[in-house]
Amino acid sequence: MRTLRDLAHLPLSDVGIRERLRERLAIMEIETALDLLTHYPRRYHDRTNQSEIAALQEGEEATVFAEVRRISSRRTRNRRAIVEAAITDGTSSLNVTFFNQPWREKQLPVGTEAAFFGKVELYRGRRQLTNPVVDVLGREGENTATVVPVYPQSGKAEVFTWQLRDAVRRTLDAVGEIAEPLPSSVRTELKLRDRDWSYRQVHQPDSTETARQAQRRLRFDEFLRMQLGLVARKRALDAEQSGIRHDVDGPLVTRFLDSLPFALTRDQRRAIDEIRADMAGASPMHRLLQGDVGSGKTVVALAALLAGVQGGYQGALMAPTEVLAEQHHAVVSRLLDGLTVGDDATLTGDRPVTAALLTNRTGAAERRRLADGLADGSVDIVVGTHALIYGDLPFARLGIAVIDEQHRFGVEQRALLRDLGRDGRDGATPDVLVMTATPIPRTAAMLVYGDLDKSELREMPPGRTPIDTTVVGPNPLERAAAYERLREEVAQGRQAYVVCPLVEGSPRTQAKAASEELERLAAEDLHGLRLGLLHGQLPAKEKEAAMAAFRDGEVDVLVATTVIEVGVDVPNATVMIIEDADRFGLSQLHQLRGRVGRGGGRSWCFLFADPTTKDSEARMAAMAESTDGFLLAERDLEIRGAGEVFGERQAGLGDLKLGRIPRDVKYVEAARAVAERLLDEDPTLARNRQLAEEVEDLLGDDVEFLFKS
Ligand code: ADP
Ligand code: MG
Repeated sequence: MRTLRDLAHLPLSDVGIRERLRERLAIMEIETALDLLTHYPRRYHDRTNQSEIAALQEGEEATVFAEVRRISSRRTRNRRAIVEAAITDGTSSLNVTFFNQPWREKQLPVGTEAAFFGKVELYRGRRQLTNPVVDVLGREGENTATVVPVYPQSGKAEVFTWQLRDAVRRTLDAVGEIAEPLPSSVRTELKLRDRDWSYRQVHQPDSTETARQAQRRLRFDEFLRMQLGLVARKRALDAEQSGIRHDVDGPLVTRFLDSLPFALTRDQRRAIDEIRADMAGASPMHRLLQGDVGSGKTVVALAALLAGVQGGYQGALMAPTEVLAEQHHAVVSRLLDGLTVGDDATLTGDRPVTAALLTNRTGAAERRRLADGLADGSVDIVVGTHALIYGDLPFARLGIAVIDEQHRFGVEQRALLRDLGRDGRDGATPDVLVMTATPIPRTAAMLVYGDLDKSELREMPPGRTPIDTTVVGPNPLERAAAYERLREEVAQGRQAYVVCPLVEGSPRTQAKAASEELERLAAEDLHGLRLGLLHGQLPAKEKEAAMAAFRDGEVDVLVATTVIEVGVDVPNATVMIIEDADRFGLSQLHQLRGRVGRGGGRSWCFLFADPTTKDSEARMAAMAESTDGFLLAERDLEIRGAGEVFGERQAGLGDLKLGRIPRDVKYVEAARAVAERLLDEDPTLARNRQLAEEVEDLLGDDVEFLFKS
């Protein structure tokens, strides 16, 4: 019997696939028996479920199985390609016309059998299909199966679906029985078919129902692997005793919270309590803090950092962009003003809490000073970008790291940051708090952040105002109305943002486009207003100056690229115009819009858009419908799928071939429960070696340490 690891080590040459086909499969990254068997059909055609051509009515949408009888191509006077075919299924024949698809003639030589899907039209008294969806099934008479699988095609490699079918058949014949890794109790409980049967039925189904059952089983396997990896990692982390027992009851956090000009929300208080409890414990903290834009994460982060500082440790706050790092640094410095920490080396026995900034723009001299301060312990908190991880910083006692906007950072960077502290004086592992403003639906969080504990800020601080969102079409009159609203607000002493269109090309091209847009606005729609410019290519000093001028009200309208997406906080801004909004992702739009609605008055967001696809239309509709980040996050997942939203590399999402989030939430929950139970009974999977192997092989080195007993 072969395990998946065996199949992964079985080259296609050993199962009788000819070299020429192997070469082309290699282009599709299919090189082993496992690669081929997990190259699943994209859909199935069921012969028992097809329409007969003779019975087709005008206006009907139908799939017909038919053979090509005649095919030819010509060009119209204006050079448009037209391919015309006649197809038959034995009951009758039908005309098929393809416009602008000249390659169809080569794809569908006479005698080809294919499934044609489309709407039946009447043309010159004859029924016809125009530009139907076509799945080539093979040459005449080659397919006797009732249910025919259709594989994802690769145009580049020129491997046809019938070649894949043939290769899979050979492979299944050659490999013999495929071993079953799941305890039978689990299979019985969840009504899952066995694995050998499932691999065969997914490729050579007896019926669409058996294909469905096979997919169910194989999809469950995908989720189970991920959850075993995540649950095992979480348990390993929880069991680790290398953390720092922070003294969380010291006075610094309390003094800081007392100094705030507002009362914490209940959620903020709860999150801070959860974090303090983690930090006091012996196992390192791995916590995710989720909260919508403007929910007040910064204060929570700072409380965590100070809980470390008051016991003599250092804190790091990492942001995804320079603008945000700079802004965090400014906010943190302001909030720390007046706070002191004990220091025996000084006459008074204490000194101010200090925060330093490190980005790629930090000069060499400044960097040296920072390094000295970190080494001798006189710098308490350092705020920065990726430079923090890769900058070789000599932390004396890194005790806690906070990562803002985690979706921009990978799992590896989280690990790297944690390792920074290991070289510290006592070799202890720093605590890690990850913050994200992209609310993650619960099931997706189970998938992507399944190894983290979670705190949530659902409740918004008081004083948030509704944001009136309008989708504005290309019509100049509609746009004029938006600019008019902006002018009215500015006349009332308010401020506004204009986010520039995305342009293809380098950051420099993008910056140039932003400058040009500023010129245009200054000359036309926003003539007479005080405009400021902010983009990623500006030197740090100019960026800071641009932000400061806007914050201080010296500028009415900030014309910016998406650098303002994260964290920029100017409560007096009440209008946001986003140009080319249909080209942005939903969570990005939500982030951008979150820059307004932060002060006392009503706010407006205008999405300049000309949506051309279903997706972009759906995104615009979602934005107009809701300002709830959680709801928008659900929509985003539905529209784009988890791989797109979180990045394929996150937590093995690339391993999902049959599984899809959020569609398969039930699978995630079931797999999580099974993973927990299996690991309860068998913590190192010593009695489930096959499963351990699969997790290791499919999720990578990252988890290898988990199952070593
Ligand atoms: P985000 O979660 O987007 O990072 P911030 O931490 O930037 O949110 O907070 C947004 C704004 O709300 C800031 O101006 C902050 O000072 C303010 N704020 C935070 N907590 C509260 C609270 N409990 N009451 C009132 N305002 C608050
Ligand atoms: Mg923030």
